Amino acid sequence: MGMTMTQKILARHAKIDSCAPGDLIEASLDMLLGNDITTPPAIDIFEKNGFGRVFDADRIALVPDHFAPNKDIKSATQCQKMRAFARKQNLKYYYEQGQEGMGVEHVILPENGLIRPGELIIGADSHTCTYGALGAFSTGVGSTDLACAMATGQTWFRVPEAIRVELTGKLGKYCSGKDVILYLIGRIGVDGALYRSLEFTGAGVAELSMADRLTICNMAIECGAKNGIFPVDEATIVYLRDRVEGGYTKAPDWLYPDEDASYASIIQIDLSEIQPQVAFPHLPSNTKAIGTFEKITIDQVVIGSCTNGRIEDMRRAAAVLQGRHVAEGIRAVILPGSQRVYKQSLQEGLLEIFVDAGCVVSAPTCGPCLGGYMGVLAEGERCVSTTNRNFVGRMGHKGSEVYLAGVEIAAASAVLGYIGSPEEIL
Ligand code: SF4
Repeated sequence: MGMTMTQKILARHAKIDSCAPGDLIEASLDMLLGNDITTPPAIDIFEKNGFGRVFDADRIALVPDHFAPNKDIKSATQCQKMRAFARKQNLKYYYEQGQEGMGVEHVILPENGLIRPGELIIGADSHTCTYGALGAFSTGVGSTDLACAMATGQTWFRVPEAIRVELTGKLGKYCSGKDVILYLIGRIGVDGALYRSLEFTGAGVAELSMADRLTICNMAIECGAKNGIFPVDEATIVYLRDRVEGGYTKAPDWLYPDEDASYASIIQIDLSEIQPQVAFPHLPSNTKAIGTFEKITIDQVVIGSCTNGRIEDMRRAAAVLQGRHVAEGIRAVILPGSQRVYKQSLQEGLLEIFVDAGCVVSAPTCGPCLGGYMGVLAEGERCVSTTNRNFVGRMGHKGSEVYLAGVEIAAASAVLGYIGSPEEIL
């Protein structure tokens, strides 16, 4: 039987000719990721087991992004531990706050050229699935798996079944990859792709930017998927060309799915039929199209994160906020996803637009996305956020509410003071 993209990557990294859903395999890893929450316990396990040296100091990326720049003594101690480990192990990819290449982990790994099509990546963070946008297999693991993988360069997988998502058409105004994935999760539910691979395909793929694809794969985990993955096309090659060391011109021939690959189900989505989506509390699947619900007043807007903190997102936000001001009583927090995005935003005059509009502009950090800092919500407060989770208490008090949306809806809502569309102000 033929194989899907995911199955081919797993088989190749397990050094076997083929694999099928349900098989248990042990595979070699191309890149490992840890952050300031998940790496310290992994270091403890690594040292407790006497592992000594990491398998390859050039294949581990450690990113202090969740509570960094440090918000308190505990977070400072966690980062200190990670920094000391990176130095001791002479890790090539340890990213210090403020330095070139630093930012939120899932923004910077692709941006820094650390991901290539056909690679196998694990990260001790559930949104590691982001890198499927580049035709790689990537998935989240726990700190114990990270510790063992740092020592051996290998880990085990149960080969997932695949769902084929066929995309046609073209996105309409004020719609982006965020609306595609919210729409999909709204259709299939938060467990609709449980331990399955979401393989995107169809003519609609070419209509999606790399930023759209990164956002879509970022949220694959929000419907339970093991990974999300896009085929490599011209847009992927252009994205990689100047980022990857030595340049990039062609994906491996073996990477494309076989014609007789088997899928657990097929979902068809016409991109032109998607309206801007809002996921109501407290699940990403509680989606409604903009304009189909009563007026909901808000207290805060957050634009950024590993889901929507790229330069394309900053440009979309600025296009809505330029010459406007956030509504009275509304806090708008904007977090460029990396130092590069920050600098590019500065050079393009976007930061000035944000500041003139009355927004807080933060250093690249996860910050408010997980209720860490830089925008924690009080009881009863409502926030429109471009992040990826709206669970109870995700961004602060358990009595607060998070509404997930794309960048333009978030920016327009900041100006309106309620959840609305740019149509109402432009
Ligand atoms: Fe996790 Fe949010 Fe940071 Fe993304 S931005 S890695 S979802 S905490």
